[in-house]
Amino acid sequence: MSDLVLTVTDIKQWLYCPRVVYYLRCLPSVRPTTYRMRAATDAHDDEADRERRRSLRTYGLDDGERAFDVEITSTRLGVRGRIDLVVRRRDEIIPIDYKDSPGRAGRHFQVQLAAYGLLLEEETGLAAHRGFLYFIPSRRSFAVTLGDDLKDAAREAIEAIRTMIARESMPSPTPWRRRCTVCEFHRFCNDVI
Ligand code: SF4
Repeated sequence: MSDLVLTVTDIKQWLYCPRVVYYLRCLPSVRPTTYRMRAATDAHDDEADRERRRSLRTYGLDDGERAFDVEITSTRLGVRGRIDLVVRRRDEIIPIDYKDSPGRAGRHFQVQLAAYGLLLEEETGLAAHRGFLYFIPSRRSFAVTLGDDLKDAAREAIEAIRTMIARESMPSPTPWRRRCTVCEFHRFCNDVI
């Protein structure tokens, strides 16, 4: 394992826009703390409290042992993360992530969930072949199959982030330019706006 421990959030951000990870990792002093970020954190905490009273039936599960805010580190991958909810069953381990956003299960969210699955598999020895995204505003859950495609994408992102940090090279901007209009780093990306 490299000395540098990445986070699962790095992986999600990398899929959203690699340049965001460049700013956070290579130029950490430039990060603004926006109201939007604080509001999202508050909503997330409120939802965690409600989740403790919610049934597993929200996810179509009959049984399972729940654990909240699970801190986990993979020595193999050199990645750590904090998972909102983990459901442990006899033959599987299931990561669940809350999202304070509209119910669109974007690929960056799905790869993030797959990364949690990789960490849980290493820690528990159980298979993580599915996970759930829970969208707070709509109170709906979305099942995600954690197959090789998503897990390989998580591994590839880890390697790409390490290479980017080692070279301190600014990646290309996201091709999804609408993301730039709500990005906290937009004032640093003079080539896209
Ligand atoms: S402004 Fe656009 S290209 Fe720049 S970091 Fe944000 S999302 Fe990426």
